[in-house]
Amino acid sequence: MARVIEFGQGCDIPAARRRPSAAEARDLAYNDEVKAATDHLYALVRDFITPMEWPAVAPFVFHINKLKAAKNAVILAHNYMTPDVFQLVGDFRGDSLQLAREAARTDAKVIVQAGVHFMAETSKILCPDKTVLIPDTRAGCSLAASITGADVRLIRQRYPNLPIVTYVNTTADVKAECDITCTSSNAAQVVEHIAAEWDVDTVIMVPDEFLARNVAANTDIKIIAWEGHCEVHEKFSGEDVRQIREAHPGAIVLAHPECPPDVLEEADFAGSTSALSNQVKESGARKVVLLTECSMSDNVAADNPGVEFVKPCNLCPHMKRISLENIYDALLTMKHEVTVPENVRLRAKAAIDAMLALGPPTRAPNFKVGADVYAHVQLI
Ligand code: SF4
Repeated sequence: MARVIEFGQGCDIPAARRRPSAAEARDLAYNDEVKAATDHLYALVRDFITPMEWPAVAPFVFHINKLKAAKNAVILAHNYMTPDVFQLVGDFRGDSLQLAREAARTDAKVIVQAGVHFMAETSKILCPDKTVLIPDTRAGCSLAASITGADVRLIRQRYPNLPIVTYVNTTADVKAECDITCTSSNAAQVVEHIAAEWDVDTVIMVPDEFLARNVAANTDIKIIAWEGHCEVHEKFSGEDVRQIREAHPGAIVLAHPECPPDVLEEADFAGSTSALSNQVKESGARKVVLLTECSMSDNVAADNPGVEFVKPCNLCPHMKRISLENIYDALLTMKHEVTVPENVRLRAKAAIDAMLALGPPTRAPNFKVGADVYAHVQLI
């Protein structure tokens, strides 16, 4: 018979002989006050945190929530955060743009970005009067790192008569050099809009080659693409999907459009992280394969009890730099503040505003692709 371990009852190694936990190292105790305030939250993460681990987690949750109240702060938790961050301390949860828009609506004075650096920059662009903190400055992104503002200026010199669309996964410097931003939910709509506005049949799209190819399948506009890739999504292949389907008959396969086109060709649905999350609910499926970052499946699973998730996991090493520990440290010490020079911020905001002015997507993204998508897209 399984032994039930109560909270706080772990192994019997004397305290003097074991290494202190991250909470103990910061003098954060799992005492009666912490227990009373947090133990009801354990149910939210019971599939990911064992009862033995909880006494090391709960003090962080308790003290982060106290610091948030004291400093009038909110935490923006991206869908790729681990469940302890996402479920236990996130005030707003979602994809990068949803989070930035929520941030702009709050009265909070401080934003802690539980996500990567370009997301914190987007929050600062939209909320210049708030203090934006990133708990680990090394939380980057392979897409954002693939291109610089100087690269975009060279592209502009080479194609002066074509508009440049940037995916939101870019630095403020890059956004400032582009005409409009897009997300994975509205990319085709943005491409068609900017082509009509400039009266051209070709649009430049940076930095994600695969998003550009997948969008090209959804529009007649020709696309010139940058060769950046998301290091998480580029690892999936169409062959992976065929193997998963064989092993899990009846499962629906949902993929992010940062995956290569052959993945989307095999998938049942593709969309942004928020669209994937909605699709799990709306499909009524009992077995789901999510082809995206690992923690996304964990977080969607917590909201969909009874749905079985097959997890062909790829972790984003940048997202995983953010933890309860460094969120606590960031709030305590008000480090690391993210700033954007005002001349860059205003131009980057203009590109974001141009997208926001379009309103919600006019049609559901349709990323089903064929071989012709490779003829329809030219690389820079
Ligand atoms: S999952 Fe990909 S796109 Fe998202 S932060 Fe990580 S590397 Fe960047």
